[in-house]
Amino acid sequence: MKRPLGYGATAAVGVAVASVTLGDFRAGQLSLFLSLAVLAVSLDLVWGYAGILSLGQLLPFGIAAYTTARLAAAAPALTLPGLLVATLVGATVAAGVGIAAFRRRPTPVVIGLLTLVLSLTLEQVAEQWRDVTGGFNGLTDIPRITAFGPEWSDSTQDLFISVVAVAVITLVGLLATRPIGAVLIGIRDNERRMEALGYDTVALKVWVFTVGGAVAGLAGALYVHRTGFVSPQIFGFALATNVVLWTLVGGRGTIIGPVIGTLAINFASATLADVWLQYWTLATGVIFVAAVALVPEGLVPSLLRAAGRPPRRSRDLRLSATAPVTAAGNGSAVFEATGVDKSFGFFKVLDGVTLTMDEPELRCLIGPNGAGKSTLLDVLCGQQGCQNGSITTLGRDCTGLRAWEFARHGVSRKFQSPQVIGSLSVAENIAVAAWGADPSPWRLTFAAWEARVPETSLRMLERTGLDVRAGSGAGGLSHGDKQWLEIAMAMAGHCRVLLLDEPTAGMTAAESLAAAELLREVHTDYRLPVLIVEHDMAFIRAVADRVTVLARGSLLADGTVAEVENDPEVVAVYGGVDR
Ligand code: ADP
Ligand code: MG
Repeated sequence: MKRPLGYGATAAVGVAVASVTLGDFRAGQLSLFLSLAVLAVSLDLVWGYAGILSLGQLLPFGIAAYTTARLAAAAPALTLPGLLVATLVGATVAAGVGIAAFRRRPTPVVIGLLTLVLSLTLEQVAEQWRDVTGGFNGLTDIPRITAFGPEWSDSTQDLFISVVAVAVITLVGLLATRPIGAVLIGIRDNERRMEALGYDTVALKVWVFTVGGAVAGLAGALYVHRTGFVSPQIFGFALATNVVLWTLVGGRGTIIGPVIGTLAINFASATLADVWLQYWTLATGVIFVAAVALVPEGLVPSLLRAAGRPPRRSRDLRLSATAPVTAAGNGSAVFEATGVDKSFGFFKVLDGVTLTMDEPELRCLIGPNGAGKSTLLDVLCGQQGCQNGSITTLGRDCTGLRAWEFARHGVSRKFQSPQVIGSLSVAENIAVAAWGADPSPWRLTFAAWEARVPETSLRMLERTGLDVRAGSGAGGLSHGDKQWLEIAMAMAGHCRVLLLDEPTAGMTAAESLAAAELLREVHTDYRLPVLIVEHDMAFIRAVADRVTVLARGSLLADGTVAEVENDPEVVAVYGGVDR
């Protein structure tokens, strides 16, 4: 919390001193490039943090710039509140684009192209719509910012723009260090995992796009006051791709990286283009290719790595214990899946599966590879819809709900291949899972950097030694440790039913028995219902109250471990129960 504020205050003082001492020309350049740096930072929030490659940050930027130009011409005395209007306009534009674009869950490439095409379309519109935009030549003689008196001089305005830009960049930097920053990184790294933790990732993407739009809108207003004119090129391809270039070269996902990228490339451009005009465009192309090839992460992360520091330092996070929620009590079944059919094209994976768990128990689901076990778990937690059938969980009809709705209702899932957030630390992974129980973006913006975590989840971490590695990056853990971490994450949210898909794959025999013991313990302490897909018979014998066998998409048998093991049909079809 303190670091971005400290850096921001220092930078504001530095920029103010520079504006006063550098002379008008350099101070003017500085304010111009800082307003562009704000634009780059808005892209960093959206792309570097949330993973949305938007080539259309110019939409809120440009529309806010035109709005500011018209407003300032109409009411020169109101330019200061005009900055607020520009911010709101940017937010509104981005919210509209975000809602239209993200709802259908397009791929990142589609988002990139869509936003670029929208921006280029607006360039055409701005050229045609002469009455409002001034057409090809744009609007000129835009008044400078004024506050309560005569119009400011250029140098006063430059100083103001530079300091406001630094303040906004600092605020975005602060936002990135809040819980919401970690959640956005989670969405960038592993959207499926985040949905399974209760995050409505589409809504969160719209939210961050809107906030990014607000920042870009303010950048547009500062920029247009600084340049004094605005033309359709503000939506053009050159600026759209340059912002991406500055962000990429500086290092996305760092906030400060794109600022450094923007300032460095623009100052170099401004200086070298004079002497070197005919080669400079070529040189920027070479810089781009060289940056991608030599420092793919960007300058700032590469320099940090060279200095022996991780690009993103995770801060200490306090995890305090709470009592887990319990499923039992309302008298309804844990879950009832009735007549579930699921096909992929013509391939029927689940064929009229009816599976119920009446009382909280430890149930194992076994079956040969390809039997449809993982798909059944997907259907039980909303990761996949089913064509026919219904799912009732803890007394509520959940048929057709999305994964995050299942998660908020209490259905937690561990995937077959471990899904953790690689860029976050172990503790941050657990915290993100815990915050998923109440995931409003505004709450996550202002909430403290700590998490209240069910005791069961902390017990997992302690037993497996992950607690002493709370600060290590989850991406560097072994396969077995990722499995443990993901189980602890599944228990860390609002967990009332636990679905585990092959939790012991990658663990040693001793570790998997320890896992069985731990799951038994948690189940005994809190009557947590658990459905586990497993192959390891030693584990199943140690853990299961009851075993259900699935073969070729249909239920084959159901009973105690001994009953199932001796069922001739199971032995015949399964063929390979390891003994
Ligand atoms: P299990 O977990 O029992 O090994 P799965 O549920 O993963 O089996 O898969 C069952 C069958 O469904 C497999 O033949 C698999 O290839 C197929 N399948 C799973 N997911 C998809 C998908 N998204 N698209 C097409 N086929 C799939
Ligand atoms: Mg599977």
